[in-house]
Amino acid sequence: MEYSIDRQTIIGKGVIQQLQWVVDNLYPLVLYNHKIYAQKSTTLRRKVQIKMQTILIIEDEVELTRVLSSYLEQANYQVIAAEQGDVGLALWSQKKPDLVILDLNLPGMDGLDIAREIRRKTDTPIIMVTARVEETDRLIGLELGADDYITKPFSPREVVARVRAVLRRAGTTQESRDLLRVGELEIDLSGHEVSRNEERIELTPTEFTLLEVMASQPGRVFSRLQLLEASQGAAYEGYERTIDAHIKNLRAKIEPDTKDPIYIETVFGIGYRFSKELKT
Ligand code: CA
Repeated sequence: MEYSIDRQTIIGKGVIQQLQWVVDNLYPLVLYNHKIYAQKSTTLRRKVQIKMQTILIIEDEVELTRVLSSYLEQANYQVIAAEQGDVGLALWSQKKPDLVILDLNLPGMDGLDIAREIRRKTDTPIIMVTARVEETDRLIGLELGADDYITKPFSPREVVARVRAVLRRAGTTQESRDLLRVGELEIDLSGHEVSRNEERIELTPTEFTLLEVMASQPGRVFSRLQLLEASQGAAYEGYERTIDAHIKNLRAKIEPDTKDPIYIETVFGIGYRFSKELKT
């Protein structure tokens, strides 16, 4: 599918919001100052949503699955479910979920057998759920490598909390990052990190703020006073020329050649701007 929207087509704000997800998810469009640009500039802002984590619920009590699913979905997880043990196992190998919530008493295939089978192949986190109160089941479950164990009845909130905790321990936490990629520069607005050619660049908080402010609106000219105000929180020295020093340091860190800056341009007599289209 191809989108052809004229460069600089001015459209309404409502449409902008509707199109936001397109811009967030597809490369060919750039949204800037309430205008849609077909991609031409090398400046591209995109929100990187690292894929949603999937939870597989294998549980024969449909109502329980329904409630649990809705809680998990509210917590931004994608949920798939099976009522039968054997179906659940098939779904697991097909969909490769990030975590399995596994009932012990199941038609088709017993929960313990499923856990054993999953463990034989992977270390997908498993949270076992059961109405059984026997300690032996609990022990067998944990021996088989279940990561946590919940006894019915339980609160769905509690399960969501356990899911989060187990995933965190497994080191697969869901995250969303706001990245700005310009040429060789990658500015991680969420993580406050900058890298060039995948090499991490250490910036002071002031330098980061200045870069963020300018790079978020490429092409816009900022006066020294505006930049000073933007960076006040980090270091306010009440003197506009301070900005020049920060910019000089920033350039030394991010520019391939400080004598011929490609990212941060000087606007004579006014201030600075982040390059809208990179010189090549
Ligand atoms: Ca059951």
